[in-house]
Amino acid sequence: MATLDSFRDEVRSWLAEHCAEEVRVGTRDRLSRSAFDGWLRELGTRGWAAPGWPTEYGGGGLDREHQAVLAEEMRTIRAPAPGGFGLNMLGPTLLELGTDEQKQRHLPPICRHETIWCQGYSEPGAGSDLAGLQTRAVRDGDEYVVTGQKIWTTGAPHADWMFCLVRTDPDAPKHEGISFLLFPMKQPGVEVAPIRLIDGSEHFAQVFLDGARARADDVIGPVNGGWTVAKRLLQHERGVSNPEGRAAGAAQRKGLIDLAREQLGMHEGKLADPALRERIAQHELDAQAFGLTMRRAAEEARAGQVERQIASMSKFYWSELGKREQDLAMQLLGSRGLGWSGEGFDGSELARTRKWLITRADSIWGGTSEIQRNIIAKRVLMIPE
Ligand SMILES: Cc1cc2nc3c(=O)[nH]c(=O)nc-3n(C[C@H](O)[C@H](O)[C@H](O)COP(=O)(O)OP(=O)(O)OC[C@H]3O[C@@H](n4cnc5c(N)ncnc54)[C@H](O)[C@@H]3O)c2cc1C
Repeated sequence: MATLDSFRDEVRSWLAEHCAEEVRVGTRDRLSRSAFDGWLRELGTRGWAAPGWPTEYGGGGLDREHQAVLAEEMRTIRAPAPGGFGLNMLGPTLLELGTDEQKQRHLPPICRHETIWCQGYSEPGAGSDLAGLQTRAVRDGDEYVVTGQKIWTTGAPHADWMFCLVRTDPDAPKHEGISFLLFPMKQPGVEVAPIRLIDGSEHFAQVFLDGARARADDVIGPVNGGWTVAKRLLQHERGVSNPEGRAAGAAQRKGLIDLAREQLGMHEGKLADPALRERIAQHELDAQAFGLTMRRAAEEARAGQVERQIASMSKFYWSELGKREQDLAMQLLGSRGLGWSGEGFDGSELARTRKWLITRADSIWGGTSEIQRNIIAKRVLMIPE
């Protein structure tokens, strides 16, 4: 592998040529879907959408040091980090628990951004109590026939595939009759009904399954042994494999001070309202502490230390910190934060308002903050029940 210095040069010149100016906006939520899709496809041609995955599955084959260089260089030019259900959740889970044939079939199209995935976990009667799910899959020759209903499915309206949890043995104890199954979305028997989110976006849906078909060899892990696969995927969703990303995100949370300067003006170099100043300072300290904790987790992972229960801590703290930040931003904006449409408000104010609204959801998806606290109490702090 190239030395870190020569690799840095290689990354710089590749980015100069392939990362268009209009993509350099910092985070994916500032890009249109099609612009982000195009950027992922571009990264995929070089294997850098999944830089740590083996090259035989379409990844970059980079070790953690080289991955860190790539991430740093991308951050420097504000190129959005790659992401999505395939790259962040299903891919890492398949790498650990899939068969070679399953990896060969599903990972390269994820790397090239040819398949877009959604997650079919939640059901109307199964959210926090996920193992209560009722969607059935019944074996029929080389296939499974899937019947039931999923809800709160992010990205379902434009997804090509769903990874989902289904009940394959209704008579077994509830955690033991579940399988982890993949199936294509574009088929008869799959109906997607969009749900509008609080910020106005419509990439969210209910999914009705009535005789949808899945290949029997698209069960990941053992039949009826899907609960273990499901839990591992949730750890990836909560950020276990991406402490660097969370650390970088925390470092970018510097917008509040600028916003305060803009909105309230400065009095002899100080914000006029001491209570607000104190809250902003506290927020900056919390963001710093979180960033450093995530950086330490990344160093520990690099050193090959066993990951502790970083997933729940990271998800819990990150989402609560984000909500506090947006609450503060709204307080700073005052009545300028009450806009919904263009009249009388500028684009950045409207974006702030919508961001504040959607941040409410961050402590719900991937397991609510209450559920993360339960896990931390039980598995990290070992508090007896
Ligand atoms: C924006 C967004 C995107 C999502 N995307 C997806 C997706 O792509 N795929 C998918 O499958 N799901 C998705 N979800 C669903 C999400 O995983 C569930 O909403 C979440 O797990 C909570 O389940 P629930 O909504 O059924 O609430 P419930 O489980 O009914 O919980 C209701 C309330 O009770 C509390 N509660 C429940 N049990 C306990 C307990 N034991 N101890 C303490 N408090 C408890 C909860 O914290 C919550 O406040 C998404 C949700 C949101 C908001």
